[in-house]
Amino acid sequence: MFVADAHCDTLYEIAIKGRRPGRCAVTPQRLKAGGVGLQTFALFAGRQGPKGTPYADGLAMLAGASWLDAPMLTDMLPAQPPQSPMGIFSCEGGEMLEGSLERLTEFQLAARLRMIALTWNFENEIGHPAAQGPKQGLKPFGFKLLGAMDRYGILPDVSHLNEAGFWDVCERAALPPIASHSNCRWLCDVPRNLRKAQVKAIIDRGGFIGVNFYSGFLRSDGPATLDDVVRHIDALCALGGEHVVGFGSDFDGIDSSPESLSDPSCFPVLLDALRNRGYSEQTLENLAGMNLWNLLKRAEHEAEII
Ligand SMILES: [Zn+2]
Repeated sequence: MFVADAHCDTLYEIAIKGRRPGRCAVTPQRLKAGGVGLQTFALFAGRQGPKGTPYADGLAMLAGASWLDAPMLTDMLPAQPPQSPMGIFSCEGGEMLEGSLERLTEFQLAARLRMIALTWNFENEIGHPAAQGPKQGLKPFGFKLLGAMDRYGILPDVSHLNEAGFWDVCERAALPPIASHSNCRWLCDVPRNLRKAQVKAIIDRGGFIGVNFYSGFLRSDGPATLDDVVRHIDALCALGGEHVVGFGSDFDGIDSSPESLSDPSCFPVLLDALRNRGYSEQTLENLAGMNLWNLLKRAEHEAEII
């Protein structure tokens, strides 16, 4: 079964922290063992907000991708989902663009970004993070950026964005919102998770929600288990999310996940748990990878600039 994952921080570990690629949770071998055909690799540029060196970090991570022994899809996606592991690029922390559309073009030519998390946990030129929670929405550059992202077919990633910014994205972006690595706030009340109204808005627009495997976003009272991941997926599907839900593991960006879900080779264990829960094979295929794949294809199809 084709598995796709919407978020990992492996390039940050390799290029910024100097970890050996073989020591990361996400390796080509483990992706292959888990049936992962498509792994999203984030250029995580938000760690210090605009005060850091987000642009240089982004370039370093882009260069670091060559250390991974997995081909990166920087051109059009193939007609069918890949059978062996391939990567795509995303951005986490829009400060990487330094408030400039020229930077967006630069990264687009080099990496073909498929999604941009507009903020990480700091205010930037685009908007405000969920972690700080102010009521202000996107800034003028944020609106300008959304227009440019629509033209390039880059999905607006609302994981980490505050609620006011989320609703601005829903109102102003032509492409649907994607929450690449966020869970249900009504099951685990942390600002990084989504409220029911946000989930419904993403479902209405045909976006995507990647369930995050970080223990602290799965349950607030102790270590999470595989059942907690299933619980969040159940809750999203109960709201009608069968066609928008998938995975956003956050591997290599998290320090604790359910014991049986520690790296990409564990995806079959999760799929079995969902199968035992009563999900049909068709729904499993959607959750495992086709929901993310279909949205990426749609974004590419709707792009004006290729
Ligand atoms: Zn994140």
